Amino acid sequence: MPDRILVTRSSMPSMEEYMEEIKEMWDTHWLTNMGPKHKSLQEKLKEYLSVEAIDLLTNGHMALELSLQALDVKGEVITTPFTFASTTHAIVRNGCTPVFCDIREDDFTIDASKIESLITERTAAILPVHVYGNVCEIETIHSLAEKYHLKVIYDAAHAFGVRYKGKGIGSFGDVSCFSFHATKVFNTIEGGAVCFADEAFGRRIYQLKNFGIRGPEVVDGVGANAKMNEFCAAMGLCNLRHVDGEIAKRKKWWSTIWRGWMECGGSV
Ligand SMILES: *Cc1c(COP(=O)(O)O)cnc(C)c1O
Repeated sequence: MPDRILVTRSSMPSMEEYMEEIKEMWDTHWLTNMGPKHKSLQEKLKEYLSVEAIDLLTNGHMALELSLQALDVKGEVITTPFTFASTTHAIVRNGCTPVFCDIREDDFTIDASKIESLITERTAAILPVHVYGNVCEIETIHSLAEKYHLKVIYDAAHAFGVRYKGKGIGSFGDVSCFSFHATKVFNTIEGGAVCFADEAFGRRIYQLKNFGIRGPEVVDGVGANAKMNEFCAAMGLCNLRHVDGEIAKRKKWWSTIWRGWMECGGSV
């Protein structure tokens, strides 16, 4: 019998698998700045998540923060209060004002039918969150965004591997942000990613995560340091080999708990 019941525990590969993955770094001495592990993880995640383009970052929060900056969002951002603190902080740290919209009772995502009444002439973007793998009301959100010329930034930190209408969940909106924090279903210890389709956005994010540097002699503007390092990317390469099993395990636990709940007369 276990002596503790763990609500969550970070998934890790075997020590041998990780050692094997990082071994060559003692030959190359390439520890960060978009090295071979970063490149390889980026390609593998692009395929796994079925997205057009992806860039890796130091964490999910910087993915949100730099996405808002890259899209030049200013003014009010309509979002949900039912999320992790990071979502709102990313808005405020960009000098924008968060405007909270109520959520749906059944799946806890933003109630898209209540967004329009919150739109003002200062509204610049909508930042919805896919909650516990539940997908937001994408069509309604996009039609509002089109009507009022708003950017859409999805917080997809809870939606790794989710698909919607045959597409990877990261394919929607101007950008979708993932977190690969240690507590998430797929982790790189600390890490995150942005998924997008617009090449110009990709170039901007790439610069912003590396001090705004465009070339050896050119710094285009004020950036941050939000690069994923090689040890984190290597952990991601290992964990990605096991993530399907990890998701299956969680599904099994969830259905066991759910059955138990219903058997004791629990209500939804
Ligand atoms: C985890 C999480 C984040 C932040 O991600 P970090 O990788 O921890 O920076 C943002 N939004 C939501 C909904 C999250 O669950």
